[in-house]
Amino acid sequence: MILDLNLAKSRSGIDVHKELEFDLPNGLLDDLGLEPKSSCNIALDYQYNPKFVLVKGRGSVHLTGNCFRCGDEVLFLHNFEFEEKFLPANDEIVKDVDDFYYYKGNDIDITKMIIDNLLTSLPHQILCKEDCKGLCPYCFANLNSQQCNCKPKTNNVFASLTDIKFD
Ligand SMILES: [Zn+2]
Ligand SMILES: [Zn+2]
Repeated sequence: MILDLNLAKSRSGIDVHKELEFDLPNGLLDDLGLEPKSSCNIALDYQYNPKFVLVKGRGSVHLTGNCFRCGDEVLFLHNFEFEEKFLPANDEIVKDVDDFYYYKGNDIDITKMIIDNLLTSLPHQILCKEDCKGLCPYCFANLNSQQCNCKPKTNNVFASLTDIKFD
């Protein structure tokens, strides 16, 4: 995804609005157990000034993953926001400095920045619903849709301590 700086330079200090749609790279979210089900939609404003280009906006993408408690597949819309500075690249750039993004010439490639922001914004745990009852720990029945006859063996977490002798 490339932003063209020519327009922004001619309107220095004024936001340029842009809407984009792109497909996430294959396998990007595999490790997280998530799968994209739509393109990623981006709406952003970018603004040029001689020191840096400010890019801010929001993105959204439909994802599927498995409920953390019951394991059911969940389809959800993930929204995220971003605000990043792109500095003009020159030879003095120290490679270790990665607090900013860089651009050369009149093109700003925002693909990595968008993916970075998407990845850091993803939920660690997905629930199919706020009050998902999860699975029975004994028979693994999905307690959202059925009841089982298993009973917890004990509610007393200290029960096992009564066997310990201190002598
Ligand atoms: Zn669930
Ligand atoms: Zn059960």
